[in-house]
Amino acid sequence: MRGSADHSPVAGAAGPVVDDVLIHRMTPAVDPDCAFFWASGADGLLRMQRCRDCGYFVHPPAGFCPRCEGTRCEPRVVSGTGQVHTLTVNHQPWVPGQRPYIIAIVELDEQQGLRLTTNLVNCPFDVAYVGMRVSVGFVHRHGSWYPVFMPIEAV
Ligand SMILES: [Zn+2]
Repeated sequence: MRGSADHSPVAGAAGPVVDDVLIHRMTPAVDPDCAFFWASGADGLLRMQRCRDCGYFVHPPAGFCPRCEGTRCEPRVVSGTGQVHTLTVNHQPWVPGQRPYIIAIVELDEQQGLRLTTNLVNCPFDVAYVGMRVSVGFVHRHGSWYPVFMPIEAV
């Protein structure tokens, strides 16, 4: 199935660099399909892989569109805004001195079901909630730019 493609650019607002040294990060396994994702935050913009044929966003990046079975996928700038789909607080100290932090799944505004696992930062645990409006920022570590999200409204 081939749908009409919308190739109009999506204006993304540049997110801030977040100095969040207490969140433990595993170095991502970078392959050709997802290399853009880990480098995207260098200019403060979040990019997700999008099908050139039908406009469907695919995450994690796979180079294959499950909606139209197309293989012409490319990184596209997204708004960097969305809402918390679910969250939990990690209390396990993975490195000495590590404080608890929020692990969240955020659904981006561009597409229902377009979700990524991330961290919620600049947000006290007791005010975080499912449905909270959030925007992207980035933690730069190990040469990668890790997308994190923070509340849009003051908390
Ligand atoms: Zn497609």
